[in-house]
Amino acid sequence: MMKHELEDQLKAFEKKGIDRRHFFKLMAMAGLLTAASTQKAKAFSSNAKGKIVIIGGGAAGISMAARLKSWLDKPDITLIDPSDRQFYQPGFTLIASGVYQPNDVWKKQEDCMPSDIKWIKDSVTAVDPVWNQVTTQNNGKIAYDFLVLTPGIQTNWEKVEGITHDTLGQGNAYSIYDFEGAQKTWKGLQEFSKTGGRGIFTDTYTKHKCGGAPKKICLLTEHYNRKQGTRDKVDLNYYTASKELYDIPYFTPRLLEIYKERNVPINLNVRVKGVDTSAKQVHFEKIETVGDQKVYTPFVEDYDFLHFTPPMSAPDFVKEAGLGWTEGKLAADGWVMVDKETLVHKTYPNIVSLGDVAGIPTSKTSAAVRKQVPIAAKNLISLMEGKEPVEKYDGYAACPIVTDYGHVLLCEFNYKKEQESSFPFSMMNPSKELWAAWLLKVYFLKPMYFYGMLNGWA
Ligand SMILES: Cc1cc2nc3c(=O)[nH]c(=O)nc-3n(C[C@H](O)[C@H](O)[C@H](O)COP(=O)(O)OP(=O)(O)OC[C@H]3O[C@@H](n4cnc5c(N)ncnc54)[C@H](O)[C@@H]3O)c2cc1C
Repeated sequence: MMKHELEDQLKAFEKKGIDRRHFFKLMAMAGLLTAASTQKAKAFSSNAKGKIVIIGGGAAGISMAARLKSWLDKPDITLIDPSDRQFYQPGFTLIASGVYQPNDVWKKQEDCMPSDIKWIKDSVTAVDPVWNQVTTQNNGKIAYDFLVLTPGIQTNWEKVEGITHDTLGQGNAYSIYDFEGAQKTWKGLQEFSKTGGRGIFTDTYTKHKCGGAPKKICLLTEHYNRKQGTRDKVDLNYYTASKELYDIPYFTPRLLEIYKERNVPINLNVRVKGVDTSAKQVHFEKIETVGDQKVYTPFVEDYDFLHFTPPMSAPDFVKEAGLGWTEGKLAADGWVMVDKETLVHKTYPNIVSLGDVAGIPTSKTSAAVRKQVPIAAKNLISLMEGKEPVEKYDGYAACPIVTDYGHVLLCEFNYKKEQESSFPFSMMNPSKELWAAWLLKVYFLKPMYFYGMLNGWA
């Protein structure tokens, strides 16, 4: 079958809306999910007892609820989450580049919630890990025997001076780290291609969701302008707070080459301090180490189109509960102090934490969540049975870096920063961008999220 024919068929499939039956067909077609793996997910069972409270019903929380529900004979699970909608956040980058429509990336939260679990539609404001209870905004205190801590990340927009969540898009300053923000970015990106000028793309100095996302939107903007015939009207620049563009050695050389081929210069060790959206200027700080001193040099750059990444942290209530790391690199932003292999809290052994909030040295992605869920669920059940947690997570995460409309560098790796393949592309060279990985990203991963992961099957 020709490349574009397969893409057309997949597009048609997507448009019709995919039900569960089609989901399994689609996954089997791609070799992504076998009957054996679904059977394996169901095979385990336990008669352990205890009241489980899950804070946060995103990728990690709902997947945990689904797994625990199917593995426990008599599950007693309460999930607390205030949202009406479940978002497939990896789709935000594809909204911002016009590949997805906004309505493609969300479903009603009530349709994603596993049956037979108690959903309290509320926000948690405090956790008392000594007395085993959580406080909610509107439903008082809720006791637990075991806690699953999965409230994701807090996006701290106000830490960029001159920006608030509500002013996103003003003065051509955009961010895809938000559903509306992604939609505004797509409008801004198309306008930028007409007006031309200077495009600035930045990441941030804290750990952030999908470290590849700021790089993807930069490369997609570059290709969009080539497709429109306006590449010579735009000057694109990437600024990173890190000392290198990407720190997984297997993928870094090709990524650097791509930036060079596309004529997008990379500036290292720079942080965004603020944005003057009226003057269209970014205020940066360059951080250099001279001897054992850090030297901070401020500078200002004009822009016509800005894509920035807000600083991120664990939610305030997690920091205030004393659940975060108290020392080391993960302490500053309050990431939860769990064992990086078992995902069990280091002080409170009746708490597991996974997903973006977990303080573990890997990438914050839903691909990582997919691998963490069975480990955390089995270990929690062991704890409920009075046994030691023995399942070990190897740090697997994936970041499909979209390098243009049609290709993806499928970065998959573990704690050791070694390349690790979990998709059936063994006959291809994953150190290079692939069309097959584009198909995976655009057509397969979203149904895998909504129908596979959130049902505890993938
Ligand atoms: C722009 C962008 C691009 C991305 N690209 C990719 C990608 O290509 N590949 C990939 O694998 N991942 C990607 N991700 C990352 C991925 O979406 C996250 O890693 C994943 O969603 C983390 O799951 P989580 O359950 O920890 O958090 P979330 O899915 O964010 O869920 C957190 C849940 O907790 C709830 N919550 C928050 N506070 C409270 C509270 N106080 N009380 C109760 N509930 C609360 C929220 O309502 C939410 O439902 C991307 C993310 C973004 C934003």
